[in-house]
Amino acid sequence: MLALQGATRPHVEVLSALGADPVEVRTPDDLNVVDALVLPGGESTTMSFLLDSSGLRAPLQARLDDGMPAFGTCAGMILLATEVLDGRPDQESLDAIDITVRRNAFGRQRDSFEADLDVEGLAGGRFHAVFIRAPFVERTGEDVEVLASVSGHPVLCRSGRVLVSSFHPELSDDLRLHQLFLEEMAA
Ligand code: GLN
Repeated sequence: MLALQGATRPHVEVLSALGADPVEVRTPDDLNVVDALVLPGGESTTMSFLLDSSGLRAPLQARLDDGMPAFGTCAGMILLATEVLDGRPDQESLDAIDITVRRNAFGRQRDSFEADLDVEGLAGGRFHAVFIRAPFVERTGEDVEVLASVSGHPVLCRSGRVLVSSFHPELSDDLRLHQLFLEEMAA
């Protein structure tokens, strides 16, 4: 669990409820002991800055390049993307999934909202998703699978061992996406 900034606690609770042993990652030493990483929502510009000041950026980039499973939610999705639109010029992403995301893409009127999503391949019906100043995906590379969309905009994508969501699955009292990540991608 990347714990530099943002909504880490609810993720830790969900991961623990599923029997994982989440470690809060703030330093390169912390990163050394994890097998997979969840990158939470928060503020991607701040997190990008903190990746540099904590010395985590280079080791994290190396682990991702090496295929470490990762689940990025909201700001975490922005951090894992190849390309970020409406970002700050000094914000740098980790290029772990070949997507272009636009920050705060749903605009002011839909600053925050909830939606019931049909998720490709997820058993048990729709997933109630909470969006908070959420990004959406504007371009997906060839290897990227779109698992759910809102108004035609992808909001849940997967590529290899990387899963990203525009929304906050840790706030829904629904463990299925974390479970999918742990069982199918991080196992
Ligand atoms: N708008 C935030 C950003 O650009 C993301 C919001 C969130 O994580 N809930 O980083």
